[in-house]
Amino acid sequence: MAGIYIHIPFCKQKCHYCNFYTVISQKYRNDFVHILLKELEQRRDYLGEQTVNTIYFGGGTPSLLADNEIVRIIDSIKTLFPVNEKAEITLEANPDDLNKEKLTSLKENTPVNRLSIGVQSFHNEDLVYLNRAHNASQALKAIENSLSAGFDNITVDLIYGIPTLTEKNWRKNLELFFDFGIPHLSSYALTVENKTVLHSLIAKKKMTPVDDKQAVKHFELLLEETEKHGYIHYEISNFAREGYYSKHNSIYWLGGHYLGVGPSAHSFNGISRQWNVANMKQYMEFEQTGTTVLEKEVLSKDQRYNEYVMTSLRTSWGCDTEHLENVFGNLYTNHFLKHIIPFVEDGKVQQKGNVYTLTNAGKLYADGIAAALFMI
Ligand code: SF4
Repeated sequence: MAGIYIHIPFCKQKCHYCNFYTVISQKYRNDFVHILLKELEQRRDYLGEQTVNTIYFGGGTPSLLADNEIVRIIDSIKTLFPVNEKAEITLEANPDDLNKEKLTSLKENTPVNRLSIGVQSFHNEDLVYLNRAHNASQALKAIENSLSAGFDNITVDLIYGIPTLTEKNWRKNLELFFDFGIPHLSSYALTVENKTVLHSLIAKKKMTPVDDKQAVKHFELLLEETEKHGYIHYEISNFAREGYYSKHNSIYWLGGHYLGVGPSAHSFNGISRQWNVANMKQYMEFEQTGTTVLEKEVLSKDQRYNEYVMTSLRTSWGCDTEHLENVFGNLYTNHFLKHIIPFVEDGKVQQKGNVYTLTNAGKLYADGIAAALFMI
């Protein structure tokens, strides 16, 4: 179970809340794919003999790539790595790029078989607050066009907790999503990260701050409505119909191995984690230096345990004490069992055999519960 992540850093404009590594400048646009292919070649041994089951174009805005660039990247991966012929190949796409021609061509000329559409909201006031490049009617049109081009494996991103998003409009966003019959939803609370434009605008009192209580109400409605419509809440921010779980993201959540290429992309091989420089100029110097500028961290046993507890508790597969015992040993299992008790007693965590999962009440406190279980 291995995946490849490709970071396409280009965006048309910077969304106020975004803390991903992105560039608006087109300075390196023409040579970027060429360097990306060189990096793939250099890292061809990173995943060993493992079959690549997923390829994920993330960003940034991968829908800014031309179809022939997408094909060149996928062909190169297929030449360099053993790729499952039924691999899930996802392209993150922004609604303003998804016109009929683009989608028909994507479907006919590339092996992309899954679209992740960054809708965020079907209401203009929210999109303006977030500084998205698209408007509400483009969001609707993008989904219609994707369906009529023949894409059936689609996921949509929706953000809740936006100060402009009323409860009524949040319900409407969810209704529109359900009406399209899309099989997968990723839904995140708006978070105000340091060093983002939103952080600075709120600090200067130029934007309304985020209200945690409103976000909690939206999250509760999200849980209620997705359950009512038959979606499985398989990860804290992800909901899917049976058979439509994100295979790529499941690799992250289940501790699988992945190679990330492109500026700022992360890789993990079970023991160490490494990440490329988040700087276009330095990344593009690959041509001269013949290597990627990256940082590497070998994870300690405590860190690996903490990661397992944090990611597993966020999923419907839960945290398995048999796995803890086999991989980390008695000391870690006992630590977990001792510190999980209060959360089971107050109904935030449920236990079935060896497996502990969050209840709906616990999902609101996922980060805090994980932190209480960490080995420090
Ligand atoms: S489109 Fe996505 S990656 Fe680009 S700035 Fe907006 S949130 Fe960030």
